[in-house]
Amino acid sequence: MPRLPDQPHLEWKDEGTPVATGFDDVYFSTSDGLAETRAVFLAPCGLPERWRNQPHFTIAELGFGTGLNFLAATALWRSDQSQASGWLHFLSVEKFPLSRADAARALSGWKDIDTSLLLDRWPERTAGLQRIVFPEWRCTLTLYVGDAADWLTEYDFLADAWFLDGFSPSKNDKMWSNVILSGVGRHAAPGCKVGTFTVAGHVRRGLSAAGFEVSKQPGFGRKRERLEAEYTSTVFEKTSDLYLVSPKPVIPSNICIIGAGIAGAAVARQFAERGYLVDVLDSASNPASAASGNPRALIMPRLDAADTPQARFLIQSYLYALKYYLDRVPEAAQQTDVSHYPQTEAEDLRFAKLLADPPLDLNWLGAGDGSRAGLIHYGSLMIDPPTLVKGLLDHPKIIFQGNRNIDDLADLQASYPSETVFVVASGMGMTKLLPEMGRLVEGKLGQVELGQLNNADSGSESCASGTYALRRGNELLFGATFEKTDLDAITDTSSTARDENLAGLKKLAPHWLDELEIETLSSRASVRATTADRFPIAGVAFDAGSSADVLKPLANGAKVEGKVPYRSGVFCIGGLGSRGFTFAPLLADHIVSMALGEPLPLARQEAELVSPIRFLIRAIRKRKL
Ligand code: SAM
Repeated sequence: MPRLPDQPHLEWKDEGTPVATGFDDVYFSTSDGLAETRAVFLAPCGLPERWRNQPHFTIAELGFGTGLNFLAATALWRSDQSQASGWLHFLSVEKFPLSRADAARALSGWKDIDTSLLLDRWPERTAGLQRIVFPEWRCTLTLYVGDAADWLTEYDFLADAWFLDGFSPSKNDKMWSNVILSGVGRHAAPGCKVGTFTVAGHVRRGLSAAGFEVSKQPGFGRKRERLEAEYTSTVFEKTSDLYLVSPKPVIPSNICIIGAGIAGAAVARQFAERGYLVDVLDSASNPASAASGNPRALIMPRLDAADTPQARFLIQSYLYALKYYLDRVPEAAQQTDVSHYPQTEAEDLRFAKLLADPPLDLNWLGAGDGSRAGLIHYGSLMIDPPTLVKGLLDHPKIIFQGNRNIDDLADLQASYPSETVFVVASGMGMTKLLPEMGRLVEGKLGQVELGQLNNADSGSESCASGTYALRRGNELLFGATFEKTDLDAITDTSSTARDENLAGLKKLAPHWLDELEIETLSSRASVRATTADRFPIAGVAFDAGSSADVLKPLANGAKVEGKVPYRSGVFCIGGLGSRGFTFAPLLADHIVSMALGEPLPLARQEAELVSPIRFLIRAIRKRKL
């Protein structure tokens, strides 16, 4: 099966309604789709009354289609002023994602609904989860591009309302199978309500078997009847939580973040946009003083040749970061096409596989030309890191406190109210505050060079092949070295590292080496925290000794009975290596969602990939502890 999701083949009725020819069915009612959404989904799910006075509310939908239901739900949400401080999560699934152009055409008839923001942020054509945040609407759309059955297996959430909208059962029985309906039950919160247009007998029976009390109601338009259902079962089949991805949610009084690099700034901004007061403490006098402080950086994707949770996480975090920075700090981010040359034969082969079976739409990825071929990543991002980090922290709810050297987390906790959430985002400094991370993050020294080219040009260009080089106007940044170190944070530059970077530039972009005015070169070195598996860390902190005791049965392949003890209200984000600016926004969303008990932006296996406790679990399984 190709990695690029299939798009639907559409025909258009005279009044502009799209029909999916593969299913021979319409996306919405030809008489008045919006009124249908209200009558069949919103009102039967008890909206707007049920979301009032809730800190957050989750709607899940089968079949995202044109996004009309999403727009109708968010329009009601926005008009319901009592929700001024709540947050709406809309989760949906779509196996055949519409292109932006088709969605725009389908939605063009709805003049009384604001479609522009959704179309601006329209989901990309790539498999797996995509999180699209609408801070101005106080809501988040989390779309899984793929089959509904996979979504219900791979992604953990509990919905307060379900919209079942997967074409008519007679035309798409797979969307109404017992597997899907029991999944709807497994993902229902207590009191969850369901709305749907069909009254098919097997749907009624399937919902009843899944724990719902089902009733027939008068239908909308030409349909005589529709169904409503309420989750009345008391059975909650929780998935295992070895990896501590769903800690007990809190309603924090304050947020305190240690570290003002990109990780701390991204977490601070997300909490601030949710309305929380955030302190950001750093030992340096200014934000972005350590690994996030290079004068320029490149955000480009790492694409794997196979569709794995790792590959999905890498694509998802990349797309999230691009949109996030361009929306919030556009002055510090500029899109650029990156020529990516293979370093080895194996990499050349991987590139060929990616071009033959691309994981992303071809407006993101193309074949390079000339003798070095390789890939072109269209629309990557060249950023100015210090401006970006300061721009994220520039929010009325965030207070930055420089020259705050935190040695002891318990002391800091004692100085805040007990409902404060703490997030340790201090790079290598994490190991001092969270001893359980001690052996897990490792420092890598990275040096970059900045200089002037004598052949001044406007515009920007970039290329990469292990190392990278970025030109903006006549300024060139290149590097970086990557070597193990025991040093902390900022460090001295070295002439050996400069020679290494110059040798790298000679291989990567010899024409720039010829144009470089060597006497203008300046170097900057800093230490980046990495992990053994090169994936970052984002999640709940835990107590290593007592957790190891609880997890001991894993050594014999047995089930863990007790609950893993975590450090309530303490989170960590780090080990971002050389991809800190790519990973930070998505991981920040992950941490904020975990802290507030809301649906996560990551599927279960992706959350496990970044969980801080994964190393301990692996060590116990391999009996290395
Ligand atoms: N709610 C949509 C809206 O507001 O425009 C209309 C949904 S349309 C009636 C049904 C959708 O279900 C289609 O977009 C279709 O591609 C999708 N679909 C069909 N089978 C699916 C499956 N097995 N998994 C995920 N989505 C599926």
